[in-house]
Amino acid sequence: MSERLPTAKELSLIACRSCHLLSRPPSVEESAQILCPRCGAPLHQRKPNSIARTWALILAAYILYIPANVLPITKVTSLGKTQLDTIMSGVIYFVHSGMWPLALVIFIASVFVPLLKLLILTYLLISVQRGSTWRRADRTRLYRITEAVGRWSMLDIYVVTILVALVALGAFATIEAGLGAVFFAAVVVTTMFAAMSFDPRLIWDERK
Ligand SMILES: [Zn+2]
Repeated sequence: MSERLPTAKELSLIACRSCHLLSRPPSVEESAQILCPRCGAPLHQRKPNSIARTWALILAAYILYIPANVLPITKVTSLGKTQLDTIMSGVIYFVHSGMWPLALVIFIASVFVPLLKLLILTYLLISVQRGSTWRRADRTRLYRITEAVGRWSMLDIYVVTILVALVALGAFATIEAGLGAVFFAAVVVTTMFAAMSFDPRLIWDERK
């Protein structure tokens, strides 16, 4: 598994990302637009500007992560009193109420996993930029897990949505999603795009 086989790029082959046909382009020029001979999709040996694009998205996600955690994610109005909760104050509230499994789920889904994803992508980018040859198969696996986890990060938005729906049933309290929820959704979406724009094949490239 860890033995390094030659990459398609080294064999002057290009894989089509739409139909997965492996073809040998007539001339491999970085600037020339090569099209898939079977389905006509544009072919790239590596995603164009993968590293720069991923860095931009990751930095944006780190910045958005701050208001997502500082701003209130829910606004509960009950009998004329309004209570604003951030993700962490919500977690602390659930711990004090004895609902620690719910607190744990929210903490892992909303605080821990989004930050871990960003840290993993940052590590993968730095290791690729430094031309690291260390444990390539494991780093590829790490990327695959990071990309797969994306769909679960929206869990918190579901929790807010369910809370809003549940509380709306009672006449005495209202609950609204706060501005923090918007930033939180932005973090999740930006991180998903960052994971998509990173080209894991870069892990296997030899430094020139
Ligand atoms: Zn194709």
